[in-house]
Amino acid sequence: MLRRSSDRKAKLRDAPRPVFATVVLIDFLALALVLCWLWAGPPAGANLGRSVLIVLGGLASAELTWRLERQRRQLSDTPHVNMSSVAILAVTLVSGPVAGSVAAAILYLHLWWRASRWTSGIDPYRAVFNTSAMIVSACASYGVVHPLAPGGVASAPSETSAVVLLAAIATFWLVNSLAVGAAIAAAEKLRSITGLVGGWSANALEIVTLFLGAITAVVIQLRPWLTLFLLPLIYVLHRSDSVKHLEIAASTDRKTGLLNMETWRCLAEAGLKKARRHHVPVAVVMLDLDFFKRINDTHGHLFGDDVLRAVAHVLSSEVRRTDLVGRFGGEEFVVFLADVDLVRATEIAERIRSAVAALEISPSTDGTSSAVPVRITAGVACDDGYSDDDVDLSQLLLAADNRLFFAKGQGRDRINAGYTRQAR
Ligand code: GH3
Ligand code: MG
Ligand code: MG
Repeated sequence: MLRRSSDRKAKLRDAPRPVFATVVLIDFLALALVLCWLWAGPPAGANLGRSVLIVLGGLASAELTWRLERQRRQLSDTPHVNMSSVAILAVTLVSGPVAGSVAAAILYLHLWWRASRWTSGIDPYRAVFNTSAMIVSACASYGVVHPLAPGGVASAPSETSAVVLLAAIATFWLVNSLAVGAAIAAAEKLRSITGLVGGWSANALEIVTLFLGAITAVVIQLRPWLTLFLLPLIYVLHRSDSVKHLEIAASTDRKTGLLNMETWRCLAEAGLKKARRHHVPVAVVMLDLDFFKRINDTHGHLFGDDVLRAVAHVLSSEVRRTDLVGRFGGEEFVVFLADVDLVRATEIAERIRSAVAALEISPSTDGTSSAVPVRITAGVACDDGYSDDDVDLSQLLLAADNRLFFAKGQGRDRINAGYTRQAR
């Protein structure tokens, strides 16, 4: 689903031109495809009664989980798989793309009414875009299925049906990922493949929901009551995914996606205890952007937020997955590095400093203005894991903060590093 890139007011007419163009293109494409399939007439073997049952099942499953869904949306705006593609693909296979599009409209309208409209900043155009992306995917997947099984793949399953169903699933997934990826690429300056099309687990879940859709389509044609067996499966899958998202949302800083301080502290304390037990050195790096107020004052707070996100991205990319990166507050960040001595910790901090200095962020979306220089200063405090006194996390943080303060006084854009009790 299309995600919000920031807290800015989400009106389509205010959206940057590439976002506006992508959203309007997908909306028109959805409309054109539905009109084309309407003109082609209802497909052979279409079974509307069974499709109504599928949509009712989809609504029932959404009704059971809407509270979780609303909470999740209020806490986080990251892309998220919902279960509506089960019903949308199933209806498309059973009754054709026009019925699949109507199912998408009903299920997304219900989702909007129950969950999205309660979340500030999510404008209806985003919900319309997500519905259109589903409609385009449903029409495309039927476009692939139709020539392979003109009599309808779900009504008369045969030995080759598995291949046809796989083609339908693959097309649905590919087209939806492309549409959503295009919108995110148009909306955000920072892009990675994962940022555009979602991570491995999100895609695996999306593909599993499409498999469930294909199974639903076949099962409902053979024995409608058997689909009742699928409902608990869909409900549990949705619930466990929503809970996982809630956990992530409750532990991360919304603006930067880094750990929030409560979670960082908890995890870093556990990491420090473990390191002390095994006599392994650890380090805490405290980082503060230089003259950040000037960046805000000159280019506005929204651009300041873009800078914070870019720096957060650098921090996460420059350390190992097992290290802990958190937003301390404002323009200050903390990193907990396990199993690194003072020399290594200083190297890592230096690497981060150079990567931040190499950032090229421009305040204009079309890249016409020159990049704004961004600099960062860091204090590094290391514990060798051997001294007898019990060094706690607050002491490490305080030592790193003192070193940061000292480095700021020395002129900024530099690192000051040392052992916890070592004089500067
Ligand atoms: P120094 O080099 O001494 O650290 O100077 P500085 O300007 O970076 O530090 P100062 O403490 O004077 O200003 C920090 C600024 O960070 C002020 C505040 O408005 C801004 N800030 C804090 N949180 C956010 C945020 O979430 N978004 C934006 N855009 N700005 C923020
Ligand atoms: Mg500061
Ligand atoms: Mg600062």
